[in-house]
Amino acid sequence: MRLQPVSKCAFRNSRTIAQLIYLAELLLSAVHCPSCSCVDTKVIDSRESEEGAAIRRRRSCTDCGFRFTTYERLENQPLFVIKRDGSRQPFDRAKVASGIQAAVKGRPVEDIGIMAMVERIEDKLRLVGGDVTTSDVGHSVLDELRAADEVAYMRFASVYKNFDDAADFRRELALLQKRSTRA
Ligand SMILES: [Zn+2]
Repeated sequence: MRLQPVSKCAFRNSRTIAQLIYLAELLLSAVHCPSCSCVDTKVIDSRESEEGAAIRRRRSCTDCGFRFTTYERLENQPLFVIKRDGSRQPFDRAKVASGIQAAVKGRPVEDIGIMAMVERIEDKLRLVGGDVTTSDVGHSVLDELRAADEVAYMRFASVYKNFDDAADFRRELALLQKRSTRA
């Protein structure tokens, strides 16, 4: 019988649920060793490069000792929104948040929930790549509100002026009706 080699990798040695949850979180965001895929790596040197646009980190795997380099780049690509009049403006989180705030006024939606919505909306729009339209932003807000609070959703949909045409509004109403009949 061959003995398992002693591993220093925290993921392999973890025992308790708390340790496993902590490590699962690490695993999702962590850098894996390219040699043994262990997530327990140690930064041994860190410096800015490319005039501060990236941080270069020299890492060492705590398990197998393999050394490798990672680059962390700043997500500073601005997201632009094309308005109906054709003008192009940077995505404004505060503006989206205040639109949502107005819609959820007096409804059981907390500020922290609003901030999470704005974050998801921005993430989703960034994934589209390139410029987005005010209509894209409006639809993303509606998607969030539909899931969060029906009254807030209705309020936003009814004042939302940036639908491309009436068909968009009908689509939203149909979705809402479908949801109400299911509930
Ligand atoms: Zn390794």
